[in-house]
Amino acid sequence: MNPETKICQNCKSSFIIEPEDFKFYEKIKVPPPTWCPECQLMRRLIFRNEHNLYRRKEAAEGREIISMFSQDKPVVVFSQDYWLSDKWDQLAYGMNYDFSQPFFEQMKELLGKMPLPALLNINAVNSEYCNYTFSNKNCYLVFGGDFNEDCAYGTFNMYSKDSFDLYWVNKCELCYEDIDSENCYKVFFSTYARDSTESSFLYNCSNVNNSLGCVNLRNKSYCIFNKQYAKEEYRRKLEEFGFGSFRELNGFKERFKEFILKFPRRYAEIVKSVNITGHNVHNTKNCKNCFDVYDNAEDCKNLLIAGWELKDSRNSDHVGHKAELMYEFLGGGRGASRILFSYFCHSSHDIQYSFNCRSSSNLFACIGLRNKSYCILNKQYTKEEYEKLVPKIIEHMNSMPYIDQKGRVYKYGEFFPPELSPFSYNETIAQEYFPLSKDEALAKGYSWKDPEPRNYEITLKTEDLPDHIKDVPDSILNEIIQCAHFGHAMSKCTSVTNNAPRPTR
Ligand SMILES: [Zn+2]
Repeated sequence: MNPETKICQNCKSSFIIEPEDFKFYEKIKVPPPTWCPECQLMRRLIFRNEHNLYRRKEAAEGREIISMFSQDKPVVVFSQDYWLSDKWDQLAYGMNYDFSQPFFEQMKELLGKMPLPALLNINAVNSEYCNYTFSNKNCYLVFGGDFNEDCAYGTFNMYSKDSFDLYWVNKCELCYEDIDSENCYKVFFSTYARDSTESSFLYNCSNVNNSLGCVNLRNKSYCIFNKQYAKEEYRRKLEEFGFGSFRELNGFKERFKEFILKFPRRYAEIVKSVNITGHNVHNTKNCKNCFDVYDNAEDCKNLLIAGWELKDSRNSDHVGHKAELMYEFLGGGRGASRILFSYFCHSSHDIQYSFNCRSSSNLFACIGLRNKSYCILNKQYTKEEYEKLVPKIIEHMNSMPYIDQKGRVYKYGEFFPPELSPFSYNETIAQEYFPLSKDEALAKGYSWKDPEPRNYEITLKTEDLPDHIKDVPDSILNEIIQCAHFGHAMSKCTSVTNNAPRPTR
């Protein structure tokens, strides 16, 4: 079999399907994709609103709750506890398959009436404002991070304690503003720091203790800008930097940015891994075009944030934990196999076009089912009926495909069209990986959500903040502080009023 060059239906660029890809599609019995891997990723990410939370009335008991679905979204939302309870019947929303209308139209209808959980924040203790999270205690605004305690403002922080402002860290304590770091204690403003303590501004350092502003160091203590000092001298120098001052701290940040540029760095962070292309890959083998992939992933391609014994899977993200044969899948895994064109399913097998199903098997086009088998559009069938009906539906998806408002055609083998997402483009992490302006998003047929008005009265202006921490009174805890970006940053900046003036500096 030869490689084949195709034109992506979405971005119109060419992409290559390799012979090994064809073999994989054959194994899981799906046609080759019509969107390139990047566009496929973007299309999946449009279904993941990780960190835009809203107040909303839940549908079962009418209480006001925190939800990832804003009040204006045409979906039915239950509180997590109610959604997980036996007080309602998921099969009561079942639909007969209708061969007179396209498959995705029917899926849209089911999505509009099937209750969805307000958040995906499982086993949380006193951690109401977290999403895509598991077993967090006393955490606030943690997203995608599990097993943390007393942490806030983190994304993908795991097993960490007493730490703030983290991205992708593991087993850290009393840490602040760290990225891609592991096993650290009192480490601040650092990236790629491992097994280090009481240090700040480390870049690619391991087993570094009591050090400041260091790059590429291993097994060192009392270093500043990669220069060795005696213990006492180090302590004295440290005080001279005056990090209590915000201005001094920012000045140091700039100096360190310049300093990093003097050092060679790896072309990609590929550690203890063989036969890899991608970046930030650890303990993994035979994976192509994989990013942020950890711990015994094997024979995979086109993955983002995946691993933990994920095998033989492709074109998927946020997936792993002993899963295999996952394709065009987003969010979940945990002992899953053969889950295709689906999102947030786990502990299940042989599932297609489904959302938020668990401990189930042989589902097609189902939402929110638990411990179920042989269902289509949330309707129960016998094994024989199911096996007869699914091939007919696949045939129907090909003979009467869904065509979106931009003319993109969705036959069997495509993930859900972006129009079916319960979120607007800029609420999802698609906006982080593939940022678009409002006009660009609308031109591509994606929806957009303007920020909701907030009526907080600023009680402390940015310009009035004291420069030195010693001048900050405890009463600051009661203040509403103006954002330094005045609400105009592209990245979902918090605004306190809709008409905040643009910054002049
Ligand atoms: Zn494309």
